[in-house]
Amino acid sequence: MLIERADVIVTSPGRNFVTLKITTDDGVVGYGDGTLNGRELSVASYLTDHVVPLLIGRDAHAIEDTWQYLYRGAYWRRGPVTMAAIAAVDTALWDIKAKVAGLPLYQLLGGASRDRCLVYGHASGKDIPELFDSVRQHIEEGFRAIRIQTGVPGLDSVYGVASSAAAAIGDDTRYDYEPARRSALPAEESWDTRAYLRHVPSVFEAVRGEFGEDIALLHDAHHRLTPIQAAKLGKSLEPYDLFWLEDVTPAENQEALRWVRHHTTTPLAIGEVFNSVWDYQHLIREQLIDYVRSPITHAGGISSVRRIMDYAAMYQVKSGMHGPTDVSPVGLAAAVHLGLALHNFGIQEYMVHSEQTREVFGPTHEFAHGGLRPSEKPGLGIHFDEDLAAKYPYERAYLPVNRLQDGTVHDW
Ligand SMILES: [Mg+2]
Repeated sequence: MLIERADVIVTSPGRNFVTLKITTDDGVVGYGDGTLNGRELSVASYLTDHVVPLLIGRDAHAIEDTWQYLYRGAYWRRGPVTMAAIAAVDTALWDIKAKVAGLPLYQLLGGASRDRCLVYGHASGKDIPELFDSVRQHIEEGFRAIRIQTGVPGLDSVYGVASSAAAAIGDDTRYDYEPARRSALPAEESWDTRAYLRHVPSVFEAVRGEFGEDIALLHDAHHRLTPIQAAKLGKSLEPYDLFWLEDVTPAENQEALRWVRHHTTTPLAIGEVFNSVWDYQHLIREQLIDYVRSPITHAGGISSVRRIMDYAAMYQVKSGMHGPTDVSPVGLAAAVHLGLALHNFGIQEYMVHSEQTREVFGPTHEFAHGGLRPSEKPGLGIHFDEDLAAKYPYERAYLPVNRLQDGTVHDW
């Protein structure tokens, strides 16, 4: 079974997505997600100009060989653009293999290790009453784990808060938090670390007081703190029993996590900007983290994330794959199939895609009892509507940049 053609489809049903469609000589079609939020066209070009010509005529079943050929063969290894492109190819080939086998993909990855994949949703509010409304709504929808983000007194808009992000661009419609904005230039947000550190523990105290001890709570510091600030935050949140504290320091300096680890028992998650097992070599072996955040879409695909998770399993580190709406329904479907099969699955991030997006990609999973279960159809379970996708051309969009109140550029 040879690869006959590969098409890169960029569509924007509410937001931009890069989808690779691989077709074999006997007509089997597989889909992969290569969406890189804010830099989508770079991945599309990497695929179209450099990868697709290499795929034509290759054995569609040779997934590992194709992965190694694209990874080692490029010489210039790793990086988010390269690894998103490889992810799209790898995921599409797994989709094809499972369709040929007539099995849902998780069966080829070892079969189900659980009934469903626990997910967490995003609750947010500019203040406590608005946050409580959002938490209550998530609990009513059936979520059992919820990420908590709030506004900080004195700051106009803060990462992770749906209404304040909307207010920053003059949009008063309430919707799920989506930081990338369709605009000529990135939005600029402002930041004050001391105000943030003073405020966050009181938010978790209020949430535990209102909603009790059962619900799993998470928080994302979005790479903004120094090691000692992060250590202080972890310690100050210990009374509220977080499921995890995410991205406390900029991810490049992995030694920073050692300082945080030595000061707090709050579990740590990091890695949504990492894209290979090598990025985790020290963090996992030295047990500096508890959860791996790399998604299939940005870290070289199913083959590659499974390698990371097998390594992580030796150190009791679990998965917690990045999964807001900048991962397409193809990437989410792949995450749920792999998550169902992995023994060391931890939790899956889950934001419901917009109705437009769901119409283009089709339903790919079932949400119930606080978790996701993949489609039982052969492959990933994607039903991509190409005609509808063509009605939503690419629109330039950027993630925001962040400045301290004196104008200094800070980590966003
Ligand atoms: Mg994060």
